[in-house]
Amino acid sequence: MNYISTRDTACRRSADEVILQGISEEGGLFVPEELPLLRPDEMEAPLDYCARAEQVLGKFLGSFTPEEIRACVRGAYTGGRFENDAPAPLRRAGTDGVYLLELWHGPTCAFKDLALQILPRLMAVSAAKRETKEEIVILVATSGDTGKAALEGFADAPGTRVLVFYPQNGVSEMQKLQMRTQGGNNVAVCAIEGNFDDAQSGVKRIFTDGRMKSLLSARGMRFSSANSINWGRLLPQIVYYVHAYAALAEEGKVAFGEPVNVVVPTGNFGNILAAYYAKRMGVPLGRLICASNRNNVLTDFIRTGVYDRNRPFFPSLSPSMDILISSNLERLLFELCSRDAAEVRRLMLSLAAAGRYSLSGNMHDLLRDIFSGFYCDDERTKAVIRTVFKERGILLDTHTAVAWAACEDYREATGDGAPALVVSTASPYKFAGSVCDALGLRVPDGDLFSPLDTLHTATGCPVPAPIERLRGKEPRFSDVCTKDTMAAYVSGVLGL
Ligand SMILES: *Cc1c(COP(=O)(O)O)cnc(C)c1O
Repeated sequence: MNYISTRDTACRRSADEVILQGISEEGGLFVPEELPLLRPDEMEAPLDYCARAEQVLGKFLGSFTPEEIRACVRGAYTGGRFENDAPAPLRRAGTDGVYLLELWHGPTCAFKDLALQILPRLMAVSAAKRETKEEIVILVATSGDTGKAALEGFADAPGTRVLVFYPQNGVSEMQKLQMRTQGGNNVAVCAIEGNFDDAQSGVKRIFTDGRMKSLLSARGMRFSSANSINWGRLLPQIVYYVHAYAALAEEGKVAFGEPVNVVVPTGNFGNILAAYYAKRMGVPLGRLICASNRNNVLTDFIRTGVYDRNRPFFPSLSPSMDILISSNLERLLFELCSRDAAEVRRLMLSLAAAGRYSLSGNMHDLLRDIFSGFYCDDERTKAVIRTVFKERGILLDTHTAVAWAACEDYREATGDGAPALVVSTASPYKFAGSVCDALGLRVPDGDLFSPLDTLHTATGCPVPAPIERLRGKEPRFSDVCTKDTMAAYVSGVLGL
């Protein structure tokens, strides 16, 4: 199985090349040359998470041996890295066919762990295959969770370095502490004065800066990406959709083939795109419901066919979704226009030049055939956290609450009561201050852990061990730069 670029279908690469390279030379994203199918008997086979991951990854990583895939999968998902060695437990949320797919039982308590625990392993195998002697420098722009998950995944991984940029006022205090206390001799963390889009654009600029690249290669290094523009980030996310459907069928919650809707709290469009790929592979997923906060550029896009980032940016209670440029949408556009790279180039040029583009009627129809979009504001987010806890005893984080609201709104608007998988992307304890506020809990003055303790005392829900372990840890990193000094910071850290 080879990969092609969304902006140049003549550019073909093997799986190991795309995992190492991250993004194509001309700025496009790599996608599989064709999407493999899962046969019904393959889906119905009762497999544990690791075996499922081997099955799905095996379809995409043509240049890897089964033994290599197995070693990567077992390394990532066993050995207690995930609570009970269960990376993606399903939780029945009530009698109305709503299930939570909980993806936050890993080392950083957010769903990014599912991809970032395995990506360094896939990269190491890829580097060995290509006999790469260069040190791989991972540059990350984060809206909070990717940064910590990448640091945790790559810390002290041989032959790699990780540099993370996060928006100074755009992540929660707990997320900040998680990143600033990261151990490992190959990591650096820097705040930037700006929002996530500034951080992401800055990283993209550094990636494509020819002078930086040659300085780097003179020192025996090369850049790569752990953001979801890297195929190696996206691929492991397909696994949990296959796994979740198979688990529902196996437990008799759905008859095999019966559609299950999926609701995903969305920012960069990575997670929901993985659901789309699972659906295209034959998993009987129904509607893909894209949930946004007040930064509702995707809701408008799905409803009108016009993507327009020229709008105010609102910091919200769900900061990992405060995004106006959803990079992974490019991969979906490529499919919607029947893989016409010239059309993708035209749309992306328009986005770069004017901050907007519009789909042809045909592309918009195809989009609406599969996706629905809903959004909610912070007040609604808090109301959902309150009622879901009161009525069902389930504590949601602010991102998952946005998805829950979208699920309610979708069901209300359409009357479609098919079983729904609400993707739960973070532990509520990562956003304890907001969750306390939503529940009307008064947090006494104290330190960063006061909201956590208040929330725990009031709800009895267990605090995840990785968060508990942060108590009393001193931050190692306190650097701050602007979007214009990011490149200088990178040069400084790498000694270029
Ligand atoms: C990253 C993140 C999201 C958004 O996921 P995308 O793949 O960027 O759409 C949602 N919720 C949480 C908690 C996240 O960390």
